[in-house]
Amino acid sequence: MNNDKNAGIGTRVVWGGEQVEHPYNATQMPIVASAAYGYRDIDGWYDVALGNQPGFIYSRMSNPTVAVLEDKLRELEQAESAVAFSTGMAAISGVLHTFLCQGKRVVSTRDSYGGTNKIFEEFLPRQGVDVTLCDTLDCAAIEREIARGCDLVYLETPSNPTLKILDIRRLLAAAKRVGALVVADNTFATPLNQNPLALGVDVVVHSATKFLSGHGDVLGGVVCGAEALMAQVRHYREINGASLDPFSAYLIIRGIKTLALRLRQQQASAQAIAEYLRDEPLVESVNYPGLPEHPGHSIARSQMRGFGAIVSFVLRGGMDTVVKLLPLLRYAHRAGNLGAVETIYGPARTTSHVENTLEERQALGISEGLVRISVGIEDTADLLADLRQAFATVSHQGTDASSARHREVPA
Ligand SMILES: *Cc1c(COP(=O)(O)O)cnc(C)c1O
Repeated sequence: MNNDKNAGIGTRVVWGGEQVEHPYNATQMPIVASAAYGYRDIDGWYDVALGNQPGFIYSRMSNPTVAVLEDKLRELEQAESAVAFSTGMAAISGVLHTFLCQGKRVVSTRDSYGGTNKIFEEFLPRQGVDVTLCDTLDCAAIEREIARGCDLVYLETPSNPTLKILDIRRLLAAAKRVGALVVADNTFATPLNQNPLALGVDVVVHSATKFLSGHGDVLGGVVCGAEALMAQVRHYREINGASLDPFSAYLIIRGIKTLALRLRQQQASAQAIAEYLRDEPLVESVNYPGLPEHPGHSIARSQMRGFGAIVSFVLRGGMDTVVKLLPLLRYAHRAGNLGAVETIYGPARTTSHVENTLEERQALGISEGLVRISVGIEDTADLLADLRQAFATVSHQGTDASSARHREVPA
């Protein structure tokens, strides 16, 4: 739809990247299941291969169905260009490997998705990249590390699963003073709630597995930014090979069309659930940026349009209480995913930080009683009633009689 910036986001999720004629006058972009594309005109083929003419050569490089998804994300993030990957982690590692190599320095925070944290702690250092991870809540400390000089600043806000908020504008200013590239993981916020590129961030990454696709039935990732940067990311993906397949692209395109509708319902329920948990005696603390007392609330207000649909909370009694409470919930998957239409509960140690050891989680400040809720599209009243009955049962049983057998379970 020719990048109509005036259309509302609920319109753009539906029509973005798609107001073009699809083959056969199909109203939906078909799944183009072809590894390669054939040419009778050999010179024309060569022109396409050189990029002088539009067209497709081989689906590791580009695919018509995947291209529609890339166009949709490009429009939703108001980016010049977008590149799809097979998973969110493929997108993140693709970006980091495109822009970092031996001798470069990256500054990020301790709170980031567990897989991202592994890249920072395990893979990049052994490739000779200097990685500094700062206390997520200490903005001045992050600014100081950036000011020492770095090539890339990596931000995830709100963070998974602790829902910490980074001040994008402030850290961006620090990064620009030293000429660093700024990358932001926008998975939790989605393009509906936050557009880091509009604030001046260079590259946005998404796990499309989550809210974008929205139905927990597909994996994918997307990177957005200026064409000059995306050309490098696309080149890396073409060779590295973590391309998205057209079946998955189709599912993600279909999912994105209802993103605005879904998220409206999900974040209204998330706010209500966070307020309920705040008053629940078995809950030690609640993390939701929509709560006025959340330490990042005012920054979130200044850079987000909504607070998202993820809430996390720490249960008194740690894992012993977790194993009692979670099985009692009726409207709940207990699974390592988020952003789907169903409500999903998961302890950090089996979800976002399943890749980390107990010691690593402790170092990261991830409590064993930390539970993440990805709020689904069910009726708010049913989700609240479900939590109430589960907490009532656990309170009735008492938390002290349990054994300590769950404390030592490895991840
Ligand atoms: C899930 C997730 C990822 C990784 O995405 P995959 O599609 O599972 O590879 C990255 N960042 C955040 C914030 C996530 O929630």
